Amino acid sequence: MSKLGFIGLGIMGKPMAGHLIKGGHTLYLYSRSGVPETLTKEGGIACASIKEVAEKAEIIITMVPDTPDVEKVIFGKDGLSEGLGKGKTVIDMSTISPDETKVFASRLQKLGCDYVDAPVSGGEGGAIAASLTIMVGADEAVFNKIKPILELMGKKVTLIGGNGAGQTCKLANNIISALNIEAAAEGLIFASKAGLDPVVVLEALLGGSAYSRCLENHGERMIKRNFAPGFRIELHQKDLNLALESARKMGVSLPNTALTQQLFNASAALDGAKKDNSYIIAALEALANHKVGK
Ligand code: NAD
Repeated sequence: MSKLGFIGLGIMGKPMAGHLIKGGHTLYLYSRSGVPETLTKEGGIACASIKEVAEKAEIIITMVPDTPDVEKVIFGKDGLSEGLGKGKTVIDMSTISPDETKVFASRLQKLGCDYVDAPVSGGEGGAIAASLTIMVGADEAVFNKIKPILELMGKKVTLIGGNGAGQTCKLANNIISALNIEAAAEGLIFASKAGLDPVVVLEALLGGSAYSRCLENHGERMIKRNFAPGFRIELHQKDLNLALESARKMGVSLPNTALTQQLFNASAALDGAKKDNSYIIAALEALANHKVGK
């Protein structure tokens, strides 16, 4: 069993860290929002600083919102790099910039440490059920060493390539999920404004060729007006920004991603930045002058 560190115990990090404790590992924990009592009751050890986590653990996982947060956690004052010793491994499971990921990896390698990018898909439900899809960017030998740890949190763990490849794969995932959620919203508004019951429509569609997990999960949220996150609009905006930025550098056109980002912007302006990404329907409802569900 290993000494593991976990930084960032929010919607995703809290259940993920819980699975590692249940898996028999010793967990050193830190989060800006505080360490949840449920984790210390299960045996997790709350630390006073990120540096202390780095000193005590051999493998440290980060699960924080954005690229600057990861940089601060690793290289900031009292951060991981001040407590790390040679041979330790940092696994970043947040969704952040693939380019910055490569920079972080090379800075840590200069300190004699390994770096892994291992962003996840599957949402809060997948984190709670330990059924996440985990997309890994790492050297193969490092991947083989940490794979059993990732398997405690996810069902499908795939080595995509070297550092940064996991993040690029995750951005592809979030392009596809954003467009799926937007399509679900358009279909439900169309049917609902035509006078159909969206509950009946959704049930029918889930048996046909339009089925997707996004239609199932987010469609139901849209009808029930359940916009408590889940995955916040502001986080999906961050990911589409990263995708659009990478696409511009590569000379790739992502027209529907750009349009969907505009709809996220509009939903955020409708008080939605901290709501679930299914709230994208609010922007389309404003355009249609029609509300789906109650
Ligand atoms: P969250 O805001 O719920 O949790 C982030 C946690 O990080 C918070 O507890 C916060 O206190 C902590 N934190 C932030 N900055 C910190 C710092 N400098 N030092 C220590 N702790 C710090 O976010 P989340 O929904 O858990 O998402 C985390 C990451 O996972 C994001 O990159 C997100 O894009 C990605 N993700 C989220 C989902 C989802 O459905 N929520 C799904 C897949 C991937």
